[in-house]
Amino acid sequence: MTDCIFCKILRGEIPSSKVYEDELIYAFNDIAPMAPVHVLIIPREHIESAARIAPEHASLLGHIWTVIPQIAKQQSLTDFRVVTNAGADAGQTVAHLHFHLLGGKTMGTSLA
Ligand code: AMP
Repeated sequence: MTDCIFCKILRGEIPSSKVYEDELIYAFNDIAPMAPVHVLIIPREHIESAARIAPEHASLLGHIWTVIPQIAKQQSLTDFRVVTNAGADAGQTVAHLHFHLLGGKTMGTSLA
């Protein structure tokens, strides 16, 4: 999508700090980290949010969830949290599906 920030990152039009990439996904450090490790994992395909995940995305989502623990290990995390926000009320500010991988500090049990 032309004016999507994360699509621009994928095209190299906006700089990013790459953590991982393959043919399906890209991962980079969040520009405003909320934990010592705060990595965003995004599909190369523009999907607006988790609310738009459809059956045809099943293998992509399976792939993402296979790679997340690899990235956590690469970041030396044993304990980590994965968050995805869908919609403004849930805190989504970028309309391109992304998973926040957070770790490196004690986060507690409150999710909202
Ligand atoms: P969300 O609020 O769940 O939509 O998360 C969007 C995340 O993208 C936020 O944590 C932002 O800090 C992050 N973000 C926005 N622009 C950039 C950028 N250019 N590079 C890295 N992270 C970004």
